[in-house]
Amino acid sequence: MGGRAGGLHQGCEAVPVTRQPTSFVPNEVEGRGTDAGENAPRLRSERAEIPGLAGTAKAGGSLADFIWFRTGGPAEWLVRPASVEDLSQFLRNLDPSVPVLPVGVGSNLIVRDGGVPGVVVRLPKTLAHVHIEPGNRVRAGAGAMGITVASKARDAHIAGLEFLRGIPGTAGGAVRMNAGAYGREVSDILVEATLVLRDGTIETWPAERFGYTYRHSEVPEGAVVVEALFEGVPGDRAEIGAEMDRIAAEREASQPLRSRTGGSTFKNPPGTKAWKEIDAAGCRGLTIGDAQVSEKHCNFLLNLGRAKAADIEALGEEVRRRVREHSGIELEWEIQRVGNGVIPAKAGIPGQEVAAGLPETPASAGVTKVENERAG
Ligand SMILES: Cc1cc2nc3c(=O)[nH]c(=O)nc-3n(C[C@H](O)[C@H](O)[C@H](O)COP(=O)(O)OP(=O)(O)OC[C@H]3O[C@@H](n4cnc5c(N)ncnc54)[C@H](O)[C@@H]3O)c2cc1C
Repeated sequence: MGGRAGGLHQGCEAVPVTRQPTSFVPNEVEGRGTDAGENAPRLRSERAEIPGLAGTAKAGGSLADFIWFRTGGPAEWLVRPASVEDLSQFLRNLDPSVPVLPVGVGSNLIVRDGGVPGVVVRLPKTLAHVHIEPGNRVRAGAGAMGITVASKARDAHIAGLEFLRGIPGTAGGAVRMNAGAYGREVSDILVEATLVLRDGTIETWPAERFGYTYRHSEVPEGAVVVEALFEGVPGDRAEIGAEMDRIAAEREASQPLRSRTGGSTFKNPPGTKAWKEIDAAGCRGLTIGDAQVSEKHCNFLLNLGRAKAADIEALGEEVRRRVREHSGIELEWEIQRVGNGVIPAKAGIPGQEVAAGLPETPASAGVTKVENERAG
């Protein structure tokens, strides 16, 4: 990084670790085994002492260990700062050419098999606090889970945040994604959020500055949301609790919550639902390798156990192709796809190299349909 083979740099000082240069050659990734560990490029996973960083930094830190799909390559460096100030100082001193990617719990993430170049920032548990403030406000560390935020709001008789109960990600991920459900989204409840920008500057932005639209925000590249202030309205604790229970039960009935998945794969196109179009195009249950379009909710993709990220992404692209052919609708990915990888060659179609930041990864063929009946 910043010279790539030399390791992580703080200013001009190289981190005192020895490891393989991080080449992320896609062909090295292809053809390895099929579980998450084997998919990963053979980086030696080492903790490194970064001068001035109180938290931890790990070369080749696994992301597949904790993201929902449980597959994909490692982070070149996985950094867990100890505090907001620690993160700020780390980013201030980091070579500006090194890419930085914040992650929450990876509930809306495909990490490609070649891994993520640069630094992946995962927030520590100390940034998972949730406090109630006057004016029906809830202040949450960006590492706090949506269900915790909703529950604390309920206990303080604050209504309007119930929808966060059904979104299994962090507050930071929700601010970035403008997460929403049941007719509400983060832009409806956010007052302000604090970010550490890529250059280490700490800023608090009012909600309007995030330029929110459907599942979109203008959080700048490399910036890490570290805290959010939400506002609800006075409510009755029992009623709020009942609504949260209803949401939980509805989710349980309609979504593959206990599977390795990435949430809604595609944004709902204007005037229709993504799942309806996917179903109408005959994609329910479609598989590539161990990647499958969920039978229960066909806007969810599943890793049935040994899927590579490339299988999951190729399946998503195949779904897009079939929907386009069937209805002319162009589905737009909601899942964030990060890192480097290869969409494998299938049935004579050449493989596609994909790199971090490239939006399109066309691939098709080599697709099989699972024969079992629909579950929902
Ligand atoms: C079963 C299931 C149901 C779901 N239901 C819904 C739903 O109803 N509505 C909905 O909107 N989503 C839903 N999702 C998707 C997902 O939960 C949300 O998008 C969630 O907000 C992602 O949070 P995360 O912490 O997991 O983020 P990640 O998946 O880790 O990251 C998602 C994006 O946010 C960025 N990011 C994460 N943390 C930060 C941070 N601190 N600062 C800056 N950027 C950050 C990442 O770089 C990435 O671009 C569902 C997912 C699953 C698995």
